[in-house]
Amino acid sequence: MARHLITSAIPYINGIKHLGNLVGSQLPADLYARYLRARGHEVMFLCATDEHGTPAELAAAKAGKPVAEYCAEMHAVQSEIAQGFRLSFDHFGRSSSPQNHRLTQHLAGRLAEAGLIREVSEKQMYSHADKRFLPDRYIEGTCPNCGYDKARGDQCENCTKQLDPTDLIDPRSAISGSTDLEVRETKHLYLRQSDMRGKLQDWIDSKTDWPVLTTSIAKKWLNDGDGLQDRGITRDLDWGIPVRKGDQDWPGMEGKVFYVWFDAPIEYIACAGEWAEANGKTDADWERWWRTEKGAGDVRYTQFMGKDNVPFHTLSFPATILGSGEDWKLVDYIKSFNYLNYDGGQFSTSQGRGVFMDQALEILPADYWRWWLLSHAPESSDSEFTWENFQSSVNKDLADVLGNFASRVTKFCRSKFNEEVPAAGTPGAREDQLIADLEKGLREYEAHMDAIEVRKSAAALRALWVLGNEYLQDVAPWTTFKADTDTAAMQIRIALNLIRFYAVLSSPFIPDASAQLLTAMHSEDADWPSDVASAITALPAGHAFTVPDVTFRKISDDERADWQSRFAGVRT
Ligand SMILES: [Zn+2]
Repeated sequence: MARHLITSAIPYINGIKHLGNLVGSQLPADLYARYLRARGHEVMFLCATDEHGTPAELAAAKAGKPVAEYCAEMHAVQSEIAQGFRLSFDHFGRSSSPQNHRLTQHLAGRLAEAGLIREVSEKQMYSHADKRFLPDRYIEGTCPNCGYDKARGDQCENCTKQLDPTDLIDPRSAISGSTDLEVRETKHLYLRQSDMRGKLQDWIDSKTDWPVLTTSIAKKWLNDGDGLQDRGITRDLDWGIPVRKGDQDWPGMEGKVFYVWFDAPIEYIACAGEWAEANGKTDADWERWWRTEKGAGDVRYTQFMGKDNVPFHTLSFPATILGSGEDWKLVDYIKSFNYLNYDGGQFSTSQGRGVFMDQALEILPADYWRWWLLSHAPESSDSEFTWENFQSSVNKDLADVLGNFASRVTKFCRSKFNEEVPAAGTPGAREDQLIADLEKGLREYEAHMDAIEVRKSAAALRALWVLGNEYLQDVAPWTTFKADTDTAAMQIRIALNLIRFYAVLSSPFIPDASAQLLTAMHSEDADWPSDVASAITALPAGHAFTVPDVTFRKISDDERADWQSRFAGVRT
């Protein structure tokens, strides 16, 4: 038994995420966590909401609520949807927690003591009407390059020229529209990442088993242009973690908060503290997952994220951890994903394009989405959601191959024998062949799951379902029954056992269907099979079962057309 720490990139608080977000981090992380638990390992699976920064403030203002109240409400909403998708977090925390406040301030203090923080004076736009400094992208004006009148302070999206807010002609606040702006001097803290470049380079070079997608992005940021740049880690905002040096004031930094990208990854650690508090555990209980000198030395830590998050997880967060000089656990493996596109375009939260997590669950249960998303995970390249593909995958893989198998076998047994596993007949050469094929397929499935090859794992699982269908097709117990009742009984006994076998192996992908099938087979034995021969004799002769309700229903052409048009536009 090994110990596995798993984190999923933490979703931002301002709204419900779309299916592209789900498949890029939380869902594959859940697949891996469920698989490792099923294999008997000790798992700590953590996720949280990312709650600080200007977008949260603006979303709260739009909703007419104080930002703390807005975040608490949205956390509850995201938490409920995560449960709907059966995401099996050990804890779903919040980056605004007291634990994260303390730890972020503590780590900033350690970085300062190590000489890794410098103060920088900057000129920034202050809006009198909004009574605040404005981040670059919240300043709009006319582009000096092309004349576009809605250019942002960081970039003109018409001609793509990189801009400085002071370049804009007639600048105005994107929040209030006010032109009463003034350039003011303000002081900020910068993390000296450039000083840590050698250490980070060595660490990344040591990760020879990482996916190419992960290391190529990390090395690009490390080496391109002038190399790794120092980063501002503070902002002039109200909402966030106040800038303090541990539990001491930080002179000159009054009224400022840490930048959301500094505190968000620290929440991975703080979340374990929240887990301990919520479950009546001690500090030692969570520290054994995170402090290498307190028991985390034998933990394997795996992170899941979309490719846009890779630079922060390979460079910025490790710079914080390494720079602190303390014995925090560093990530062992980063699984990153490309993008899932939607029906000929991109999913977009800001434009409301695509299917969002709450809408998906209104249409169909979680397992349908889990299966499609995982079996089409954007691993080696971007992938695309289309309604045709979704319909075909659900109808073929889930309804025809798996669901129909369980239904046919149990109904046939009930009608010809009884609602219990029949006793007669002796297995022969065809059954030996089946066992050998399943054994080989099971090892392939395990190897892909161990390597977190999500699509290959789904294909390997499906191949195991197909082997059972082929067996049933070959031996045709409904025909055998007429001439040789005993042999038909044996074939059905094997097939009934296969239902349980499939329920166990499928649980990381489709946990609800797995539980339904185990219940139907009156089995509480969900242990991962060590060998196929014993797994398909686990249900003995005379063992009762119940014919399950429809495990997966088919999606009709009318439904597909209806959903296609319903989700063609923009979410209102
Ligand atoms: Zn322009």
